[in-house]
Amino acid sequence: MQKYGGNTTCFELQFDKFQIFFDTGSGFQNASLESNKEILIFFSHFHHDHIQGLAFNKYLLASETKTCISSALANSENLNKILRYYFSGDYFPLDLFENLGNVTFSDFTATQKSLRDHFRVEAIKLAHPGGSFGYSVMTDNKKFVFLCDNEFTTSQSEELKKFVEKADVVIWDGMFTKEELRTKAGWGHSSIEQGIDFFSTVNCGQIIISHHAPYRTDAELDKINQSLPYGFQLAKDGHVLGL
Ligand SMILES: [Zn+2]
Ligand SMILES: [Zn+2]
Repeated sequence: MQKYGGNTTCFELQFDKFQIFFDTGSGFQNASLESNKEILIFFSHFHHDHIQGLAFNKYLLASETKTCISSALANSENLNKILRYYFSGDYFPLDLFENLGNVTFSDFTATQKSLRDHFRVEAIKLAHPGGSFGYSVMTDNKKFVFLCDNEFTTSQSEELKKFVEKADVVIWDGMFTKEELRTKAGWGHSSIEQGIDFFSTVNCGQIIISHHAPYRTDAELDKINQSLPYGFQLAKDGHVLGL
């Protein structure tokens, strides 16, 4: 059995009345959507590895659950078009959204407004081929930040520092090592070492290094894990954190 898991990107935030998901990679198929909660999905972008799990969650397809999909990268109409295209025609055996009356699409600014009484959701433009947005969710005393996928450059530093300031948990795209990144410029991902450098001057709680390179073995990840500074850890499939 794999220690860190091989599923693609999907993070969940649980609240008493809400379940919030960031991307629906293959990890999404294992998520339990609760019918007594409002379910929100925020997409960073629409690369295959961030949407592929959407159709395979049995709760999403059940009429009792109510799910709202939103993204700072596309308005509700385009979001609907993009996902519907991917889950139909040449790519999928049926038209997934044809009969999904319990799933709605919402413009990001409208979603932000509708949630204002409960928590604040903000978005930040990231550097990634085709575009990508990171998100933060803030309650009165907690802050969570999701930053996938992003090819970090020092020009982002100031804005990104403000965005993550005082976050309790930050998800960082650390797909590559510093060495690997030398030949992977333009692929849209950062290194683990860039994350360590960046957070050395920022006041944050736990940093989760995520989006591990698909070829990375458990043994390699164990080795990396041992070398991480205090406050850093590697994302693991099914890992639950208390906030
Ligand atoms: Zn991507
Ligand atoms: Zn990705």
